[in-house]
Amino acid sequence: MEYIRENIEAVRGRIAEAANKSGRSAEDITLIAVTKNFDVSYVDAAIDCGVRDMGENRVQEMLGKIETAKMPVNWHMIGHLQTNKVKYIIDKVKMIHSVESVKLLQEIDSQAKKHGVVSDILLEVNISGEESKFGIDPSIAYEMVDQAQKLANVRVKGLMTVAPYTDHPEENRIYFAGIRKLFEEIRAQQSGNIAMQYLSMGMSGDFEEAILEGSNMVRVGSAIFGKRDYSKRNY
Ligand SMILES: *Cc1c(COP(=O)(O)O)cnc(C)c1O
Repeated sequence: MEYIRENIEAVRGRIAEAANKSGRSAEDITLIAVTKNFDVSYVDAAIDCGVRDMGENRVQEMLGKIETAKMPVNWHMIGHLQTNKVKYIIDKVKMIHSVESVKLLQEIDSQAKKHGVVSDILLEVNISGEESKFGIDPSIAYEMVDQAQKLANVRVKGLMTVAPYTDHPEENRIYFAGIRKLFEEIRAQQSGNIAMQYLSMGMSGDFEEAILEGSNMVRVGSAIFGKRDYSKRNY
């Protein structure tokens, strides 16, 4: 799987360049390798290249890889999460990026309490208003923040978004800029368990544009591992 090493080096180079253009350095940006639909040998290959943050969007698939990966790494839940599955991952993940309802927020808090942990979460914002996308409308982000402030076992660490798929990533800059603005507004009045630190935006097709607009966490799958084959669940 030598191509994985080459791809990771290329992605890292592009991250560094975009970071420099935005007045930051590569170390300011966390690369999350999205391993969904690739079996654990791909996780291990990424580990061999120094990647320590992995993203998954399904609970079962993530749990299997957590158990079998060659070493412990930071696991990020980036996909739609059902409330009844929170209990399985609550003490195993670094961060849940896809929090998009008060109900889910409360369940995370309650499970975190049970397990004696404080869960770091991101609020997923649907900036483009696309109906097919998960995430909250920006206008109710403040409501979510208010709710979160009442919960002792969650910590809101930032915002996450999935921009529309496009062949023209420049077009997504306006969405990324909008999330950045919301992030800064919430950060300006944060307190207690609202500790805005991460802006999780940018995927294979648009991570440079996201970084130029202030992202410090990019979620990259196909640019590292190749095209996903959804027809066979190879894990
Ligand atoms: C699959 C996925 C990614 C990675 O997508 P690529 O286009 O393969 O880089 C990033 N974020 C989320 C939420 C995903 O589901």
